[in-house]
Amino acid sequence: MSKILIIEDDLSIRHFLSALLSTQQYDVVEAADGQSGFSMALSHNPSVIILDLGLPDIDGVSWIRNYKQLINSTIIVVTARDDHPSKVAALDAGADDYLTKPFNSGELLARIRVAYRHLSQRNSAVALPSQFCYKDLRIDFEKGRVFLNDTEVHLTPIEHQILLFLAKNQGRVLTSRMIIKEVWGSTATEGDAQNLRVVMANLRRKIEPSTTRPSYILTVTGVGYRFNDD
Ligand code: CA
Repeated sequence: MSKILIIEDDLSIRHFLSALLSTQQYDVVEAADGQSGFSMALSHNPSVIILDLGLPDIDGVSWIRNYKQLINSTIIVVTARDDHPSKVAALDAGADDYLTKPFNSGELLARIRVAYRHLSQRNSAVALPSQFCYKDLRIDFEKGRVFLNDTEVHLTPIEHQILLFLAKNQGRVLTSRMIIKEVWGSTATEGDAQNLRVVMANLRRKIEPSTTRPSYILTVTGVGYRFNDD
């Protein structure tokens, strides 16, 4: 169940990760390139894959594009500092989360716990909860209503849809492109990125106690948005 595959060509990072995860009782397997990583993903069926984007034989983003549909694993990519375009490309390709090098051990373990939490939610056959609560915000899914401190917040259909999409993916980074696709569907155009910023600003004005220091919808600079789960 708690098997993790590390696909990383840098030996010292791979060993560090392997040692760290082993102390947490994860069952760790390792691969040094994309091709053997894919073979191991098929043979070991890991719950989580930690994937380096700079692999010797294949670019990590292409790896996700080629193989994500063929495996069942949650993919956490590891990428160089402040490399926003590759984070966005990896998330758009189907990565579930990312970490920036050099990463902090505590942060990595926290991301892995989030990945397992999402996996267990995905695997549990229980019916969807009828409401979502976080801090002072409550979303009633059945009635399609949103409350802040028990006072109803009136949202436009698009604001409502964006809030639900973020809340249902609490803790997970969603790229602007993912949100636009969810809301505007296949008819999305270039102009929708600007529309999204406008809708997001309006939504925040309605739910956030402070728009400069949001408590619910956090901006992930250069990448997208994440519903707070602290
Ligand atoms: Ca590398």
